[in-house]
Amino acid sequence: RKVLVSGANGFIGIWVVRTLLEQGYSVRSAVRAEEKGQHLKKMFGGYGDKHEIVVVPDITKEGAFDEAVKGVDAVEHIASPVTFNVEDPYELITPAVNGTVGMLHSVLKHGTSVQRVVITSSTAAVVRDDPNPLEFDENNWNEQCLEILAEGGPRLIGHIKYRASKTLAEKAVWKFWEENRGKITWDIVVLNPPYVFGPTIHDVASPSALNISTLEWHKFIVHPTSSGATNEFLATRGGGWVDVRDLAEAHMLALEKEAAGSKRIIINAGVWKWQDFLDAANAISPPPKLSQPLPVGNPGAGSADPAAIHMLVFKTDRARDIFGLKYHTIAETTEDMLADFESRG
Ligand code: NDP
Repeated sequence: RKVLVSGANGFIGIWVVRTLLEQGYSVRSAVRAEEKGQHLKKMFGGYGDKHEIVVVPDITKEGAFDEAVKGVDAVEHIASPVTFNVEDPYELITPAVNGTVGMLHSVLKHGTSVQRVVITSSTAAVVRDDPNPLEFDENNWNEQCLEILAEGGPRLIGHIKYRASKTLAEKAVWKFWEENRGKITWDIVVLNPPYVFGPTIHDVASPSALNISTLEWHKFIVHPTSSGATNEFLATRGGGWVDVRDLAEAHMLALEKEAAGSKRIIINAGVWKWQDFLDAANAISPPPKLSQPLPVGNPGAGSADPAAIHMLVFKTDRARDIFGLKYHTIAETTEDMLADFESRG
């Protein structure tokens, strides 16, 4: 079976490509430019014609994926801008929404052999900020970011713009589904991961070029002093998380599990605080060889503290029932991420 993967050169995308190839799928990796496919080509050269690259220069253009979807059995649509650093929110919203809707329309018109389309959404489309801790499941929608977007005032900060792009893109998916479900022979699965951590295998020239979630991890775990993070910040800030390898497996299972069809599914390993990762990092023996000693923060002050409050908690019954994933632990992911940073010098 052949799968089209968009955003294939990104942190999550390349793990999805690798997981699919390892499990015997053929993969067509979609990237924006020829040179963005070089690293993928090299990494998966051993798979011969089971791995190919397709260049889709502008995913916001109508019909952008028309050629790319021809002859594939499934699609993993992962491409979407992930940055909080934009002035105009539509720099994120336009590619997020048009890229997603465009992919669905290309499949509708030209994906004659497609059976399933998996869309990488986010818990950004689920959560809302609140002074009190909240628990979320797949019935929750982030209307808050859309209200702030409509207001356009000072509350419209970077991560709210990102949340709006993911919420609007996912809303567009379900709108498309409602309008077309009667006339299509394929179905849709949406995955909603929170923070994604884990070792990187995409093309990262330097730590500053990491994707946002591993960049933050690097900043707060490997360099918390220079990042200006206080012990209180490290002990209290966190959310939900999942290891990128487990998320990649979920993307593969989303193609295979009948029960996943027409559902949004939160993929979350559990709660965390930055201090939890620091404690795990400092428990590694022998210690990783990094350019500077690891900071310790305030050991035990994260989730291990019985008084710890988790503002965002996710119910994961649906993922458990459909996928039954065994998630990496904070200790395992920390060890693998530090080994990754160690190997990169
Ligand atoms: P990366 O930044 O590493 O990857 C993003 C991918 O999307 C890249 O391949 C990038 O291509 C592509 N992309 C971005 N903007 C555009 C655009 N305008 N046109 C075409 N392609 C574009 O991020 P991640 O791998 O972390 O994110 C992948 C997906 O996972 C996104 O949909 C994101 O919202 C979602 N997600 C990520 C989480 C995380 O913690 N990392 C959490 C929850 C969801 P290029 O290299 O050419 O820019």
